[in-house]
Amino acid sequence: MPELPEVETIRRQLDARLIGRSVSSVETRWHKSFTGRRVDPGVVVGRPVARVWRRGKVLGIDTDGGISLLTHLRMTGQLLLEPVGTPRDTPSPKDTGATRVVFGFDDGSRLYFNDQRKFGRMVVLPTADVPADQLLARMGPEPLEPGFDAEALGAGLARHPSMTLKAVLLDQGFVAGIGNIYADEALWRAGLHPQRRCGAVRRPAVAALRDGIVTVLSEGVARGGSTLRDYVDAQGQRGGYLDIAAVYGRSGQPCRRCSTVIVKITVAGRGTHLCPSCQVTPRKRRAPRG
Ligand SMILES: [Zn+2]
Repeated sequence: MPELPEVETIRRQLDARLIGRSVSSVETRWHKSFTGRRVDPGVVVGRPVARVWRRGKVLGIDTDGGISLLTHLRMTGQLLLEPVGTPRDTPSPKDTGATRVVFGFDDGSRLYFNDQRKFGRMVVLPTADVPADQLLARMGPEPLEPGFDAEALGAGLARHPSMTLKAVLLDQGFVAGIGNIYADEALWRAGLHPQRRCGAVRRPAVAALRDGIVTVLSEGVARGGSTLRDYVDAQGQRGGYLDIAAVYGRSGQPCRRCSTVIVKITVAGRGTHLCPSCQVTPRKRRAPRG
């Protein structure tokens, strides 16, 4: 599932290409891609794109005139741009059996929403209603914004003392945009076991976790995201982060820090990768005294 770095990569590409372009057509092939049906998707036609933004894993496009489009890619969703100048009657390799929605623009470019498994969702709604939409309403802080410091993270952890670190990092209400890949990577960076309880994380470790989260997400953005199976950016390119990942997808391979073999366990219902030496278990940390 695309996480913050993947959605941010797409956002930057759409921002560079779509600002000021007017929507000329909307073709819906799978009506359930649009959730809620608060506004007919056709209302975006004739409106120039004013802003392309991201909140957590949600991508937003605001048009002039106060109408917005939200997209959550979920499992297999892709947003693919057809280059400017492609004749309308030319078949596109991006137009496939998985194409659910096609947006046309006044310069002849097109944006395909492809979604093999159909879990992805789009919403067209008044821009004024965006903050209250169910995709965004209960979302936690943006980890790459300045306000996400050790103090804020520590306060968040203190509210969930009995939850595991892995579980809270996956909770979009706790912090926005982190999924399975970057949660495992951030915990390895901080030297924290995924099963450690939030209430048992001391202050220096909170700072290390905050830095780990910011570092892995920033590296993810710099590498154009992670491609496990389906993710490609708006130009159809795979992300390169997994080439440098420390633990995710590396079970059986040596830790990049200490050469201990990386293991995969299940935490919070998800496959979880860790180094048993760098990420010491809570039990081992509580060694008998005296
Ligand atoms: Zn290690």
